[in-house]
Amino acid sequence: MLRNKPQPTRRWLDLAPGDPVIVIAGKDKGKQGEVLRTIPEKHKIVVKGVNILKRHTKAGQSRGGVSVAQGGVIDFEAPLDYSNVMLVCPSCGKPTRTQHTVIESGARVLSCRNCGEPYERVRKTEAQ
Ligand SMILES: [Zn+2]
Repeated sequence: MLRNKPQPTRRWLDLAPGDPVIVIAGKDKGKQGEVLRTIPEKHKIVVKGVNILKRHTKAGQSRGGVSVAQGGVIDFEAPLDYSNVMLVCPSCGKPTRTQHTVIESGARVLSCRNCGEPYERVRKTEAQ
C-alpha cells in the first residue's frame, strides 16, 4: 500500500447529498444508493446503505460525547473514497462520469457524458 500518495486539495466535490450514485469499486461494488454526506477534505463520501460497518459498543461507553446506554452492535455507513462511486444519470439511467458545462445563463453545471443532459439537482441551490 502506498500511503504517502499526494492528494489534490479540493474544496468541494462534484457530488452532493441526495445525489444517486453507484459504487464502482470495493466490497460494495454495484450497489446503488444516495449520497448522505461528503467529506471534501478527505476526498470521501458517505452513501446510504453502502459500506456498512458494525461498531461494537459496551454499555456505558461514551462515543463522541454520546453515552451509550446499552451495549450492542451499531450499524453505520463508513465513508468510502470519492473515486469509488459514479453518479447515476437520471436522464439515461447509466452510471456516468460528469463533465462541466457552461449553460446559457453562464452558470457552470454538471452534465452527463453519455447523453449530454445537464444534471440538475432536486435540491435548491443558493443562487435561486
Ligand atoms: Zn445521461
